[in-house]
Amino acid sequence: DASKRIALLGATGSIGTSCQDVVRAQPGRMVFDTLTAHSRWRELAQACDEFRPRFAVLTGVRRQDVAANAFPSEVTVLYGDEAVAERAAADETDVVVSAIVGAAGLRGTWAAVEAGKTVALANKETMVVAGPLVTRLAARTGSKLIPVDSEHSAIFQALQCGHEREVARLILTASGGPFRTRPKEHLAQVTAADALDHPTWDMGPKITIDSATMMNKALEVIEARWLFGFPADQIEVVVHPQSIVHSMVEFVDGSVLAQLSPPDMRLPVQYALTWPERTAGVSPRLDLSQAFALSFEPPDLDRFPALNLGFEVARQGGTAGAVLNAANEVAVSRFLRGELSFLEIARLSRSILAAHDFEAEPTLDVVLRQDRWAREEAENWTSLMSHSQP
Ligand code: NDP
Ligand code: MG
Repeated sequence: DASKRIALLGATGSIGTSCQDVVRAQPGRMVFDTLTAHSRWRELAQACDEFRPRFAVLTGVRRQDVAANAFPSEVTVLYGDEAVAERAAADETDVVVSAIVGAAGLRGTWAAVEAGKTVALANKETMVVAGPLVTRLAARTGSKLIPVDSEHSAIFQALQCGHEREVARLILTASGGPFRTRPKEHLAQVTAADALDHPTWDMGPKITIDSATMMNKALEVIEARWLFGFPADQIEVVVHPQSIVHSMVEFVDGSVLAQLSPPDMRLPVQYALTWPERTAGVSPRLDLSQAFALSFEPPDLDRFPALNLGFEVARQGGTAGAVLNAANEVAVSRFLRGELSFLEIARLSRSILAAHDFEAEPTLDVVLRQDRWAREEAENWTSLMSHSQP
């Protein structure tokens, strides 16, 4: 049959379940061939009950941890990171949805790109860690990278209305997160629970914290840099608290094209899977029968210093992205464990970035080695909190 066969990497996450909604609503157009998860095997088994993929993969638990008969008997259950890469590259896979969180998503994405697959890319960390290497590999294998991140999906859509040389700027919108209007002295005190309460988007914990620090926008600037091939000085960020304008492209004649829709990831997931076509789907519609306002304001780099790191790293390239990403991943989990204060997330990331041994043209091995180095440094980085606490 003509259904697109999808390998969904990270099926149990926020993007993963959005992708399940999309596929459920597109019968006959797309089916799951592989679903993967890390440790939430019950949720993965449930998805397998419904979608009956040929393969399921678990990377964070062993076979003996999983109840016998948890999965339908016709689903082959595989274990380990290698199996994710194998299924991403398998002949039977048409499209890979890359929705694992963090640099852990790189391996499967890389395998898919190497095998020339179409990749619906939610895992922005892949582009932050290894953007130039991934795009070069894609050019060689013919793999297409279709953005799922809502800002990049918006830019991808707007770019289809003009030629690359006619583009003046990519304008990424940012919600500003839960602390957009908090004074700086309050930011020092905010807790993980405060930061996990996002005003417009419902997402996984890591990206929700990134959104509160605006590190998410920093990572997205770097993602845009490599995904679309525009230099950092052609990328801008504007705060737009309603999260309805998902991003914009300004062309050389001054015309700005924007993509609008309610804040719901099912639309960019679906667009990545149906592109270059559009189909009716499950995403909510803008309700223009009610009055509402759209507002825009410049970002406050003093309260959200992480954002500057994004521009710096987008300019530097090389190993800087891998180091920033790894330092931030560790900082976020230490913040969630209560070991770091909110403002220390950006502070830690900056100091590890500054201390690293920069290489301009790294291989994948070098990038992965720098990632490991930065993680170790970030785990050992001394928080001022630990001095004041027993
Ligand atoms: P979640 O935390 O909700 O889900 C992460 C998924 O990855 C889960 O399926 C999880 O499995 C799996 N996973 C976690 N760690 C590993 C690992 N070490 N190896 C293999 N699989 C792993 O994340 P989100 O869905 O929020 O985000 C996924 C990606 O999409 C991120 O890169 C994020 O930046 C990006 N993104 C997300 C958006 C959103 O709205 N959520 C918007 C734009 C981009 P398990 O459930 O078993 O732990
Ligand atoms: Mg985004």
